[in-house]
Amino acid sequence: MAPANEPLPGTSDLWEPEVTDWVLLEQAARDVFGRYGYGELRTPIFERTDVFVRSIGDDTEVVQKEMYTFEDRGGRSLTLRPEGTAGAMRAIACHGLADGEQLRVFYMGPMFRGERPAAGRRRQFHQVGVEAVGGLEPYQDAEAIAMLVHYLEAIGVSGGRVRLNSRGLPEDRAAVSAAMRQHFAPRAQDMCPDCQRRLDSNVWRILDCKNAACQAAVEGAPKMVDLLGDESRGFFAAVCRGLDQLGVAYELAPRLVRGLDYYVHTVFEVVHSGLGAQDALAGGGRYRIGLPGVKRPLDGVGFAAGMERLLMARESLGLKAAGRPGADVFIVALGDEAIPAGLGLAQALRRTDLGLRVLAGLGGRSLKAQMRAAHREGARWALILGDNELAAGTIVCKTMATSQQETIRRDDLVDWLRQAAAAPAAAASTP
Ligand code: AMP
Repeated sequence: MAPANEPLPGTSDLWEPEVTDWVLLEQAARDVFGRYGYGELRTPIFERTDVFVRSIGDDTEVVQKEMYTFEDRGGRSLTLRPEGTAGAMRAIACHGLADGEQLRVFYMGPMFRGERPAAGRRRQFHQVGVEAVGGLEPYQDAEAIAMLVHYLEAIGVSGGRVRLNSRGLPEDRAAVSAAMRQHFAPRAQDMCPDCQRRLDSNVWRILDCKNAACQAAVEGAPKMVDLLGDESRGFFAAVCRGLDQLGVAYELAPRLVRGLDYYVHTVFEVVHSGLGAQDALAGGGRYRIGLPGVKRPLDGVGFAAGMERLLMARESLGLKAAGRPGADVFIVALGDEAIPAGLGLAQALRRTDLGLRVLAGLGGRSLKAQMRAAHREGARWALILGDNELAAGTIVCKTMATSQQETIRRDDLVDWLRQAAAAPAAAASTP
């Protein structure tokens, strides 16, 4: 058994410098999505279970097998969110949407699925996602995909491939399902028990099955777009035209369905070769979701990208934050009077416009021990303050890289640091 202080399987503690990379993903999301008129939405991490069952669909893998569901003290069934769209739709229904109004939101944060942990598959993972709700234009889909590509560029993830398909409208489903059944029925004996059941209940889901035998049966299945009605094919053609116009490269993926029942028309994903077996970086599509208290179903388009996987893709490209946070300045305080003075000096330096990271040795340790700590923290300068310097109004400034030191007036310290900070970095490299 794992020691009690390890995080649970499929969850992790995040430390610097990894956190620096997470912040980069978050800031880029705010920047890029903001340029397209999206605002941030933060919804609760748990919701009533039916919020997810209703919008994700009760025949989906996520709802049937993966949700963390529990009862609260009042006997209500609650669930930790397994994805972001359902909660966003619940929030939008609660907020209200006027006829013709469009709402663009993005979100990011932890999601929870009880999957078997593997590389790139976590039980607590994080998504950054967007929803553009209240419009039915194919160009909106093209713009959402282009925005995702823009975001990937902004975080340095090159080499992602956009795969695109259309599921058409609900009225196209009967024809597509019939053609699929015809294709899969003779192959049923080779497929997994779940897919044998799906042949009757939800034949589309077979396309998404990860079982190798089912995947083999999917080869040669009918191409969905060919089976759609005129309206759906026209919509899909317009999405492709929009992407061409925006210079976004994509591949047609005629059997891509994506797991969730609420998708209509466009479905897409971005895959990346740096991820290994779980190669999906992001996925999304256009949806039509009926919500309680909202007269008409909501039309929208959105996507979600797995942040752990974005970081894995960055790492595969050699992009990874290094080092750990340290200090620019370490104040070595020696003596009963100098220690509290060092405490005050550190605070004063942090408040200057120099943006310095400042630590002070406040434990009364020896000069040698404090100098070692200054090295460990990667300090560029050690400022030595003893009771003698305190009385004389001076301080000893030591440049760590060169070991040069000089005694200056305390009043001149900020100017001294300003000049030292402006000096070429080579002379002040950290150990
Ligand atoms: P989905 O909501 O299943 O379409 O997932 C959207 C994206 O979230 C995927 O493309 C992955 O990048 C990521 N993702 C989904 N499930 C997991 C998981 N269990 N662990 C890590 N990332 C995940």
